[in-house]
Amino acid sequence: MIVFLETLGCSRNQVDSEIMLGKLVAAGHQRTDEPGKAEVIIVNTCGFISTASEEAVDVILDMARFKENGVCQKLIATGCLAQRYKDDAGLLASLPEVDAFLGTAACEQIVDVVEGGESTALVFFPDPNQRKFQDLTIDRELLSKGFAYIKVSEGCNRHCTYCIIPQLRGLQRSRPVDDICAEALSLVEKGVKEIILTAENTTDYGQDLAEPVGLDLVLSSLAKRIAARDKDVWIRFLYTHPGTLGAKIMQVIQSHDNLCAYYDVPIQHAASTTLKRMGRPYTRENLFDLFKMIREVSPGASLRTTLIVGFPGETREEFEILKDFIEQVRFDHLGVFTYSDSDDLKSHGFKDHVPKQIAEERHDILMAAQAKISEQVNERHVGKIYPVLVEENPEEGVYIGRTQFQAPEVDGMTFIYARGLEIGTIVHVRITDAFEYDIAGEMA
Ligand code: SF4
Repeated sequence: MIVFLETLGCSRNQVDSEIMLGKLVAAGHQRTDEPGKAEVIIVNTCGFISTASEEAVDVILDMARFKENGVCQKLIATGCLAQRYKDDAGLLASLPEVDAFLGTAACEQIVDVVEGGESTALVFFPDPNQRKFQDLTIDRELLSKGFAYIKVSEGCNRHCTYCIIPQLRGLQRSRPVDDICAEALSLVEKGVKEIILTAENTTDYGQDLAEPVGLDLVLSSLAKRIAARDKDVWIRFLYTHPGTLGAKIMQVIQSHDNLCAYYDVPIQHAASTTLKRMGRPYTRENLFDLFKMIREVSPGASLRTTLIVGFPGETREEFEILKDFIEQVRFDHLGVFTYSDSDDLKSHGFKDHVPKQIAEERHDILMAAQAKISEQVNERHVGKIYPVLVEENPEEGVYIGRTQFQAPEVDGMTFIYARGLEIGTIVHVRITDAFEYDIAGEMA
């Protein structure tokens, strides 16, 4: 069968897509990047917030067109939207175009479903807590160039009041360190230049193991084993939790050149009263101390965070505390989301929901404040030389890449004015210009 797969949502979902494609290719099926040529179309959905669910339904309906006037014989919906609404007969019934719905723990069964005979709409939702770890004998089909995500664990043991992920992905299960290292080395063998560790909370890694260990062990093992194979390969980790990001991890980062001094710390808010309602187990003071420690142990480290505005009960004062916090800490990169309500969330039952318009105004105020900070932060890079992973060549004489302080898909980029560079390689660039989010330079 010729298979097209559309991935929505987060890096964990991308890994699931690459696992499914790897299994299908290993079973003799072909992969295409054109839905019009596919006999089977898979949409790996996101269902984290309502806008993501709406987008997933739109994409499914869009792909369904290929069943009418294309060669598509089977349309399969996998991932978090399917898992979130597995008991919602209404939603499943509202998508008769879909031949099979697979939950987040059903990726491993994708070949059976693709090869399965014609039958009524198949629904398959195994318990996410029973999902087996990745079979390393089957190569993932990578969907990104030059970098690759690696999951260090599945699921989450926390209970943030605005989040449904533990129900969708199950409780936390950490992968063996050796599996993570073996997978990373096999990706480096394939020419990957940047390994990005991902999970719901990478720094919670190992707490669920019989003999608990920390992410610092994964990072130091990876750094040594990869450096021995290729010292130019970068290792980055995303989605830390402020409650478990500590000095041990920072010291490991400082002691290995191939570990990016890049701290992605989604704090969600900074007013201690709001954090309490969110179920986030830290205060504004804890956060100040954490970012102060990062900058002391890891001078020059890059800081990223994500925030939610308009959370039920958020007062003008709480919002001002948040705005003041980001102006004091001065993050290199920052994303802001407006609270997304849904009746299956604990926070849905809270009082004083913030009107959408107010939430959007607060979003815009923070993004405007951050745009100024981001440009000033970028100006300090001018005149310096950095290794840059070359990723695109949009036009003659211009390449786009990323430094160690720019993560893919969420941060600004580095424009390189040069000719004859190779995509997927690392070059040294002298920064000549700084913009609101991006920087630019020439070969050093
Ligand atoms: S830490 Fe909170 S926000 Fe993150 S996945 Fe777990 S419950 Fe959701």
